Amino acid sequence: MESARVAGFGTSIFSEFSRLAVQHGAVNLGQGFPDFDGPKEIAQAAIDAINGGVNQYAVGQGAPQLRAAIAAHAKRFYGQVLDPATEIGVTSGATEAIFDAVLALTNPGDEVVLFEPFYDSYLASVQMAHAVPRFVRLRAPDVTHAQWWLDDAELAAAFTSKTKLVIINTPHNPTGKLFTRAELERIGELTRRAGAVLLSDEVYEHLVFDDGKHVRPATLPGFSDFTLTVSSGGKSFSFTGWKVGWHLGRRELVAAVQKAHQWVTFCSAAPFQAAIGKALELPDSYFQGFVESYTQKRGFLSAALTKAGFEVLPCAGTYFLMARTDRHRKAGEDDVAFCRRLLVDHGIAAIPPSVFYSPEHASHVHGMARFAFCKTQPVLDAAADRLAKL
Ligand code: PMP
Ligand code: GLN
Repeated sequence: MESARVAGFGTSIFSEFSRLAVQHGAVNLGQGFPDFDGPKEIAQAAIDAINGGVNQYAVGQGAPQLRAAIAAHAKRFYGQVLDPATEIGVTSGATEAIFDAVLALTNPGDEVVLFEPFYDSYLASVQMAHAVPRFVRLRAPDVTHAQWWLDDAELAAAFTSKTKLVIINTPHNPTGKLFTRAELERIGELTRRAGAVLLSDEVYEHLVFDDGKHVRPATLPGFSDFTLTVSSGGKSFSFTGWKVGWHLGRRELVAAVQKAHQWVTFCSAAPFQAAIGKALELPDSYFQGFVESYTQKRGFLSAALTKAGFEVLPCAGTYFLMARTDRHRKAGEDDVAFCRRLLVDHGIAAIPPSVFYSPEHASHVHGMARFAFCKTQPVLDAAADRLAKL
């Protein structure tokens, strides 16, 4: 009955582990969603929009007020100047923007460069479009590398005459890596040479720690010609269920993505667009407080994991910690089996990172687990208690 397009798909790991966490009463540090709401006035803005009659289809490309707010936000944080009429489009979350972009920018058989570990929807989108993934591995920190790093020869070899799209994610889920300017310049050079498009997924753009700086690739010299930036309101404003996403860049790129969008969802939810427009206009103090609060959560969970015997890898951005599990892993146990046991026997849900790899490279992270720290203090306290008993 199923088409070949979907027949190979299992249930998303996030759905599976969230369901298991409820079933076993586990502390859920798996799926990346906050267990608290975003700013009250933004929730109120959505309620006001509903009560004020913003309940019919929005303009397909995105409510003009939201597109204006996205343009103002891009100018405020990155000095980017965009025409909201032609250079910005709105979708149902970043997930839809990515799917639409893959549909709009590749033909069957074209190649898409993905960096492993990759956010899982990238590969599914590529597969549904009958494009071909080409993987480049981010390598874990080691004695000579303080951060996750790329092998340049492997990177260059991933580009061929068929490369049409390159998808990067910075700050990066699940590693917490910020791509450096030098890495981005090299990726950009290869993308330009291939005549491909660089899709930059920046949904964690406001989750950058320790005075680090998020470099928006589209703002590097020459990049605006071939870069499509994707982001969304889910993480930055703690309303992941609202699913308001956007993409920005050269008008031809945005128009192509919008062609797919008009037949995928046509428009994203109107009252939430109104509220996210207000959220993007929140003062700098909101974004500073956001980073401070997450810095505290990161520190707390990192200390609890370290105390419990995990080796926590550096996290410069996002709300995820990757940790080596070797001290607790049984012989022969891979990351999926370990995370299942951690959940069922010890009441802690974490995500096995091999789901962010192609099957041939999954074994590289069998000794790791991803822990989300977008949780309230009582939940983090409960996690620390359970970790202490391991
Ligand atoms: N990209 C990355 C890297 C993510 O982690 C996520 C999930 N939170 C998304 C995209 C999806 O974003 P949205 O909820 O806006 O669709
Ligand atoms: N991005 C979230 C994560 O990485 C999950 C989003 C989803 O479940 N689709 O945990």
